Amino acid sequence: MSESVHPSQCWECNTYCGSLITMRDGQVTKIGPNPDHPGSKGAFCVKGIRAVREWTDNENRLLYPMRRVDARGSGEWERISWDDALDEIADRIAAIRTEYGPMSIAGAVSGAAFSRGAVMALLMRSIGSPNWMINQDLCGGCQALSEKLTGIPMKNGEDIDNTRCAMLVGRNPYAADPTQWRALKALKKRGGRIVVIDPVKGPASDLADIWLRPRPGTDAALALSMAHLLVKWGKYDSAFVAQWCHGFDAYKDRIDQFPPDVAARLTGVPAADIVAAAEFYSEGPSVFVPGHGIDAFSAGVQTFRAFDCLVAISGNLDRCGGNRLTKKPKGFRTYLDLIHDPQFRLPIEVERETIGAAQFPLWSGPEGWQTACHNPSVINAVLTGQPYPVRGMYISGVNIVVTYPDAARTIEALKSLDFVAVATQNLNPTSAYADIVLPKTTTLEEEEVQLIWGGPCIGYTNPVLSPRGEARSDLAIALGLRDKLAARDALTADFLPWADQRSFNEFLLGESGITMEELRVTGFAEFPYKLGNFDETGFATTSGKVELFSQKLDSLGLDPLPNYVPPTADAASEEEQNQFPLVLLTGLREKTYHHSRFRDQAWARRVSPDPIVQIHPETAAVYNIDDAEWVSLQTAGTSTACRARAQLTENTPRGVVATGMGWWEPLSDDPEMGAREININGAMSYGGPWDPVTGSSDSRGRRCRLSPA
Ligand code: SF4
Repeated sequence: MSESVHPSQCWECNTYCGSLITMRDGQVTKIGPNPDHPGSKGAFCVKGIRAVREWTDNENRLLYPMRRVDARGSGEWERISWDDALDEIADRIAAIRTEYGPMSIAGAVSGAAFSRGAVMALLMRSIGSPNWMINQDLCGGCQALSEKLTGIPMKNGEDIDNTRCAMLVGRNPYAADPTQWRALKALKKRGGRIVVIDPVKGPASDLADIWLRPRPGTDAALALSMAHLLVKWGKYDSAFVAQWCHGFDAYKDRIDQFPPDVAARLTGVPAADIVAAAEFYSEGPSVFVPGHGIDAFSAGVQTFRAFDCLVAISGNLDRCGGNRLTKKPKGFRTYLDLIHDPQFRLPIEVERETIGAAQFPLWSGPEGWQTACHNPSVINAVLTGQPYPVRGMYISGVNIVVTYPDAARTIEALKSLDFVAVATQNLNPTSAYADIVLPKTTTLEEEEVQLIWGGPCIGYTNPVLSPRGEARSDLAIALGLRDKLAARDALTADFLPWADQRSFNEFLLGESGITMEELRVTGFAEFPYKLGNFDETGFATTSGKVELFSQKLDSLGLDPLPNYVPPTADAASEEEQNQFPLVLLTGLREKTYHHSRFRDQAWARRVSPDPIVQIHPETAAVYNIDDAEWVSLQTAGTSTACRARAQLTENTPRGVVATGMGWWEPLSDDPEMGAREININGAMSYGGPWDPVTGSSDSRGRRCRLSPA
């Protein structure tokens, strides 16, 4: 028996931990951390150890293409060959394309943090459609757009290892990021400061030197107030501001509107605590560690802008112990680079027709971050034909019935389409409404190359296993479909000029000098990285500087300065406040699951068997809710409710309830598999209010009510 160890990288969440995969006789016997990986430095989590293997070996895994043989949602399928599946998909797409035009075909995928996102975009463009949906309006999009507008891409560049003060905002690294959690514990041990801003108490606030507990959705006021204090105390980086920041005078006028007493009134945080947090943060190097708690809501970009500008003026940008800027090896292409590469673009007049581009031009269309659609507008187009019909959809690796708010409307849209194909590893509430389902590979069967911002390094995912059954990668599926469409004269262009995954990956490596052979041996490749070389890099904004005053936002008639936007829960009418007296948070993280995945794994279900909703005991008493009791949860603006099990805890403030997302019931015979019943998105609207930049809907901060179920 031979045993071998293969350096790789876990791809199951955006932490991208380096891994070591042990193989014996062609089987994976162990997956564990790679202590040499420059990003994760030996951190890892149970999902990487257990979930990926079970995801691959799962007895319920989809192994062959299948065709639906009864009504949508009937659960009746027949096995077909790949050739038949691709022929049928190509026939149906070609017919819809002829009748309604290329733009009536839309894709759906998680996003361009993974190669499948880039492949989906290029496949849709090859068909002639600029329309593809991503998940980032619900996850990280506000952060990305704020950083883009401010000119400081710094996601995952938090240098906690070298900082004196870490400021966590809406972040639960204990559950979401083992690399950050390890670094925070080390920071605490060496006497550094930890500031936590979060309405919910948790392991991070337990570790903190100071914990600020703002009312949900008011965090921006804290950042603006801290910036005001730093400038007032002269503890900001005036040299950096003078040389590299645009719009400081206007910015100063704005932050001066937020002295601590004003911020205290808006947030509910005592003014003295705001001052104390600002003092800690001013004694840098300090690092801003954001989480989804301040993303994916209708003031997400402004909230991130408030913190991003604080990072910039405080001198913590691209500094040892601060927030590093994203850099890459010369000649290397990221997935985002592919999407924006002129050789893979549709004519600009076509891209301007991207659904959502008219209302959210910085999110959708030619100027958009990923160019992708505004999802709720696509769902609307399916159901109303406005601004034009969408009649066919190809969905890959994303369970949109579960992950998009308003599951009922997503189901209605899928049911009404002329054709739906879904590529997936397992049948789920989204594939239930497909005409054809296609088996996808898992991350143990795929070879991927990617820029790891946190390393920084180029990471490598090693395909240690051959695909199970007849599973194929996203690129292999797209290439097969492209060929079938070409045979039907149903392509606008061929934006997939690669023969296979290896040549795709070599295209990404480009002229970087990094080779596939090197990556296979090490699992990663580090590259030279200079801090603070602003003279060389500049800033990708209109002014070429960090834009405290965003010229792009100004040109669109949006507030060019970071600002506090009152939470929508505050703006509700008195009647609505009476009917929906509580405020809902939906970002509760669990170590067992990632979004909607791994829900059928026995170990995970043992640890987290039911969706929970956390309630303060005094709030629960008002509504006669007992601990562990099933409750019905309904939000303002929707008529449907979902169920969750009450967990009484003082971690959640009075008047606020907190739950997680992604729940469904994989073992259910019902086609919806609980996607409406036990999933918070069954009780949420996707219909706004939307962030004016990203179009993000309020995934948290909505008004809600509870009652015993
Ligand atoms: S945190 Fe866990 S799931 Fe995410 S990349 Fe690391 S090991 Fe994988």
